[in-house]
Amino acid sequence: MITLALSKGRIFDETAPLLARAGITPLESPETSRKLIIGTSHPGVRIVVVRASDVPTYVQYGAAELGVAGKDVLMEHGGGGLYQPLDLGIAKCRLCVAVPAGFDYASAVRRGARLRVATKYVATAREHFASKGVHVDVIKLYGSMELAPLAGLADAIVDLVSSGGTLRANNLLEVEEIASISSRLIVNQAALKLKREEVMPVIDRLEAAVQR
Ligand code: AMP
Repeated sequence: MITLALSKGRIFDETAPLLARAGITPLESPETSRKLIIGTSHPGVRIVVVRASDVPTYVQYGAAELGVAGKDVLMEHGGGGLYQPLDLGIAKCRLCVAVPAGFDYASAVRRGARLRVATKYVATAREHFASKGVHVDVIKLYGSMELAPLAGLADAIVDLVSSGGTLRANNLLEVEEIASISSRLIVNQAALKLKREEVMPVIDRLEAAVQR
């Protein structure tokens, strides 16, 4: 039996058509079912429904052989114990630095000012600013990053941007792109060796589904 870790919402919604093309249809929807382990039309594949940021952890420790995770989540996790064989090309967006419309980010950086940055991507933000030599205090938040500069909690945020509508609605401007994001299929490294006969056909079918 192969276990695939998925999160509810956008990743599940956009992975489901790819799974269907690969001959794997969940027997229940995680949006309506309270079950956390869901069988599929494929007798050798089941789905576990976990938080998006927990997907790499389940796969890293082998509790799931496969998972689908955003590149943002994988950057923050670090990717240890995982292979990333396939870009699924779904849930596309970008990870950005944004500031209030009136804030002169370029000159603050030039002056060497110490910036307060609110984000849920603490490790990624630290690494980004360190690589540019910008001094930051990173403040960990779990949601509604856009509020932080408006409420005076931070000078800048690091967050996902898709259409830009949320930034515009809150009078924030994107000043830097850290990475372009899409969701990846991830595989437990040991499982790829020890359960190769079960794991590889699922990867191959998903790869064919992405290319169609
Ligand atoms: P938008 O207003 O279209 O730019 O979307 C921005 C909001 O949606 C922010 O709160 C983001 O955290 C969230 N968001 C955008 N794209 C994604 C994605 N691919 N996965 C998860 N959250 C996203």
